Amino acid sequence: ATPMAVLTTVNKLAKKGIIVRNGDSLEKIEKAKIIIFDKTGTLTEGKFTVTKYQGSEETIRLASSLESYSSHPIAKAISSLYRDKHKVEGFNDFPGEGVYGRVDGKEIIVGKREFVLKNCEGNADGDILICVNGKVEGSIWVEDKIRDDAKEVISKLKDMEKEIYIATGDPSSSAEEAGKELGVKVYKGLSPEDKVDIVKELRKRGVTVFIGDGVNDAEAIKEADIGIAISSGTEIAKYAGDIIIPSINSLLTVFRYGKRAVSKIK
Ligand code: ADP
Ligand code: MG
Repeated sequence: ATPMAVLTTVNKLAKKGIIVRNGDSLEKIEKAKIIIFDKTGTLTEGKFTVTKYQGSEETIRLASSLESYSSHPIAKAISSLYRDKHKVEGFNDFPGEGVYGRVDGKEIIVGKREFVLKNCEGNADGDILICVNGKVEGSIWVEDKIRDDAKEVISKLKDMEKEIYIATGDPSSSAEEAGKELGVKVYKGLSPEDKVDIVKELRKRGVTVFIGDGVNDAEAIKEADIGIAISSGTEIAKYAGDIIIPSINSLLTVFRYGKRAVSKIK
């Protein structure tokens, strides 16, 4: 049976928008040693802006048309480059990699460099590459800001002597920059499965928490001793997670209340 103290705490947290699906996780969190953060949308605002692009207007327009079918935050930035869109057929989303589809009769891939170069001839600089009919034809540079509260949350977790990591699908230099700015180690360019492997590896050393936002973090969230999803509003039901928090700020609240619940049980 769930102890009274845990139930009371779960109710108090619910009033703060924190949903505890699994009461045990509240008791466990006090023992957490390792905390792994997803980057995009978790430590960053998840609102990308395009800072620069290369390629013909037509190439960028093809990419922009294709990205209007994806809900990825990078896709939103690219899709807003052009209002007029081409017709898209056979859209395919490759989570953590990019998108594919036929646009205006051409085969288009837009995604991270590694992903596009694997499937396309040519080479180019850029965070995101555009492939048109099998050839690299354009590049896009994007930027996403670290959330204002991320630094404070991480420094408080360090004060609590937690080991902290970033695990991100982002292969670009902004992954390292985020690590430097926050003073934590970064695993970058990861597929959703790589994230699961890292959780498995780190779990061998102690109780491990994974905090992520996207649907593509669901498996890593499940693999962790305590999986935390960041979400709010109506989307909550579709996410995995022992605990669901509205933003990383609430993480400190979860730790505080977890500790209180445990001390009342003892
Ligand atoms: P994170 O792990 O930081 O949340 P994701 O797994 O969502 O990042 O994405 C990893 C990388 O894959 C992005 O940094 C981007 O390079 C690429 N990517 C994913 N989806 C798209 C898309 N729709 N358009 C362009 N690039 C994408
Ligand atoms: Mg993410």
